[in-house]
Amino acid sequence: MEQLICRLKRQYFDWRYWDYLYRNMKKKSKTNTRKELVIQNLSFVKKPGITFSIDDSFRVQDWYAYGKNLFGFYDVRVTFNINAFHHYEDNRELSQAEIDMLIELQSYGHEIAHHGYNHKDAVKYTEQMGVKKWIEDDIESLFKWMEEKSHSVTGEKFKRPVTFAYPHFRFNEETLKELVPKYFMIARGHLMGNYLTPLNYSGLAPSICIDSHYLYNPRNVKRILKYVNKLGSNLILTCHSILPNEVEWESFGWEMENHAKRWRTSPQNIQYIITEAKRIGFEFYTTAELSGVATFIDHNFENYIKKQLSKHSNDNVLISELLTIKELDLSNKNIINLDGIQYFKGLEMLNLQNTNITDFRLLEKLPNIKKVLY
Ligand SMILES: [Zn+2]
Repeated sequence: MEQLICRLKRQYFDWRYWDYLYRNMKKKSKTNTRKELVIQNLSFVKKPGITFSIDDSFRVQDWYAYGKNLFGFYDVRVTFNINAFHHYEDNRELSQAEIDMLIELQSYGHEIAHHGYNHKDAVKYTEQMGVKKWIEDDIESLFKWMEEKSHSVTGEKFKRPVTFAYPHFRFNEETLKELVPKYFMIARGHLMGNYLTPLNYSGLAPSICIDSHYLYNPRNVKRILKYVNKLGSNLILTCHSILPNEVEWESFGWEMENHAKRWRTSPQNIQYIITEAKRIGFEFYTTAELSGVATFIDHNFENYIKKQLSKHSNDNVLISELLTIKELDLSNKNIINLDGIQYFKGLEMLNLQNTNITDFRLLEKLPNIKKVLY
């Protein structure tokens, strides 16, 4: 009986919290909806979407174990925000096995983004040490760390992150000014404004957390998704560990407070949200894509495009630069993966002769294509 009351209470508080978010979103969207719709019209897909933004790299193992196939099955690309250290194992550095898993996730098109070298609270750290020291210790250090690491078998490297997620959801104007646009296009925070992020956005982006700490029953997100769809904008959903309900924290042997144990969501909840989002026709974007930066899986494809656009190898390719290209010759360039072609919305002619591409599904996303040479 006590258990039942406890569950009902939990369900009620959960509903009330999401009802509050929904009402707040409605209230705050009334004032700026029009502006966002205008920006949306310039987007590459012209479809509202959601972004899964997943924090803290001591959870690499469970991202890999429970997230890899889940996102692969639904063809959903997400953003993993990483640190270089493990919070709960004496702050040890990530192992080579964990680095390999992250780079493998990147090779499926997921974004590996910046969450602070040592997961410092930006507000507290800058108060104590100054903003310069924070940039040096928690921002530049992770860029450097990522540059030095590579996959133990393939030799593949991390891409330079273009987005950041504030550790502990703690942010302020002073740190934001340092980060955007110098280091990042987007710095993700938590509940702000109407919780929405238009495409081609740069600056501080809000998010809503779907960990069990905030979301018990995934049905509570449904109403918000419908409303985001109506507004034609995008919603960033944050979570931490991806763990089935039956996996107990105790089995990891980590000392942590009860509060910290609830920073997890189940594959079932994510699956529910993906299914619901697909049902109403949402796109799925990485945070980098929300900021207008294109992601390619195949380096030869990416480098060829950069050359065509007269860019240096470290420059970002912007989605807006690809929308108007009409002809593309990818023949004889040792390209095996077409991922990225979905951005070329104006493409009419595509040459794929002498490539090793086997998956052509993305060609369906090109509305103007007239001729494809195989
Ligand atoms: Zn974190």
